[in-house]
Amino acid sequence: MTVTVRFAPSPTGRLHVGNIRTALLNWLFARKSGGTFLLRLDDTDLQRSTEAFADGIRSDLDWLGLVWAREERQSARTDRYVAAAEFLKKQGRLYACYETEDELDRKRKRQLARGLPPIYDRSGLKLTGPERAALEAEGRTPHWRFRLANSEDGFAPLPTIVSWNDLIRGDQTVDVGSLSDPVVIRADGSFLYTFTSVVDDAELGITHVIRGEDHVTNTGVQLQLFEALGKEPPAFGHHSLLIGADGHALSKRLGALSIESMRAEGLEPLAIASYTALIGTSDAIEAQHSLDELARHFSFDKISTGPARFDPEELKALNARVLHATPFEQAEAGLRRLGVGGGAGFWQAVRGNLTVMSDAVAWWQIVDGEIDPKVEDAALVEQAAALLPAATWDDTTWDVWIAALKTASGRKGKALFHPLRLALTGREDGPELKALLPLLGREKVLARLQGRRA
Ligand code: GLU
Repeated sequence: MTVTVRFAPSPTGRLHVGNIRTALLNWLFARKSGGTFLLRLDDTDLQRSTEAFADGIRSDLDWLGLVWAREERQSARTDRYVAAAEFLKKQGRLYACYETEDELDRKRKRQLARGLPPIYDRSGLKLTGPERAALEAEGRTPHWRFRLANSEDGFAPLPTIVSWNDLIRGDQTVDVGSLSDPVVIRADGSFLYTFTSVVDDAELGITHVIRGEDHVTNTGVQLQLFEALGKEPPAFGHHSLLIGADGHALSKRLGALSIESMRAEGLEPLAIASYTALIGTSDAIEAQHSLDELARHFSFDKISTGPARFDPEELKALNARVLHATPFEQAEAGLRRLGVGGGAGFWQAVRGNLTVMSDAVAWWQIVDGEIDPKVEDAALVEQAAALLPAATWDDTTWDVWIAALKTASGRKGKALFHPLRLALTGREDGPELKALLPLLGREKVLARLQGRRA
């Protein structure tokens, strides 16, 4: 069997860490098993779906390196949904309903008042031909519900318990007898996701559906739809949802955790991918060298059923570790975009001090631009200036200079280095001074030691 998976966002907003976790788990599984990863745009809600959001989704996936083999969009597949709906109507599994939202609401309230679960009473199913004609003559157009299996109304008795062996959660059951028959076609003729997704998964040969656990109940319904359509269902895996560092659900705060904003913050795609793929798994959260390396670690067994904790601070710390291990060749383009020069030497000197790539800008300014040195210990820096080697500078310059300064001043440790650091960089801490020295050059170093802006 060739694995085929899909990531199926609705283009009604930008992707956030929650969706990206779903996308990644699908992508990594496809990659590990030599399968295919598809992008399916669930754009049946024409009012809320926009082309700009579709572009945003593509751009976010692209930036993260989650390449997709093919794109499908639901708005282009209506003919398939119409055909599948006709088939189900013939089987008696779709039925017309005429209630308005208000009428349904009143029904639910009455049921709740009587202590009953607010399940649709299947009035539509009981309508006679003339009753339907009368409702339509009133100007009502029907919406259509999928009749979930149970033993009422002359249908062959089917079990209402739907079960499957979840790739992540193990044995699962949903009692569809406790659910309302879902609306699959709205009164305006548009189709609902629960249905379109099944038609697509069947036609596109999706072998595994990996998605959030908020879809577990949908799976019960969708397995019945596969059966009613006479199609083999895919395997299902439901991953847990994200919680924040405070232990509370992230769902309401997800908007603020868009890939777009993380990108603007300067986070590395590999750090975001490593972090979102590894939280909520038994693997340690470590910087990975590539998505392929991440894919090699992928296993459903490692994904925990407990919530995955997303902590932006932990992501930043991982981002720093990714940068510390990034070779110059990989950083070069990003540095260029930020207007940072200095080549491999500069990158080697500063990468260990960066949390995000854009932190390099300030260090480049210190190396290449002008700063006002901070004089903490005038006597020491004066001595340091006097001892500064004159000859051509190389890797040994620092050691020669510091050895001389130690002897002359009798200083060592912080008392020696802290005043030098403040004079040369204006900062309390930062990259090794030994590495910065040749980048600064003699003229600048001398000027700064003399307290001059340089
Ligand atoms: N469009 C659905 C969503 O974003 C897809 C769910 C699924 O993977 O089936 O929730």
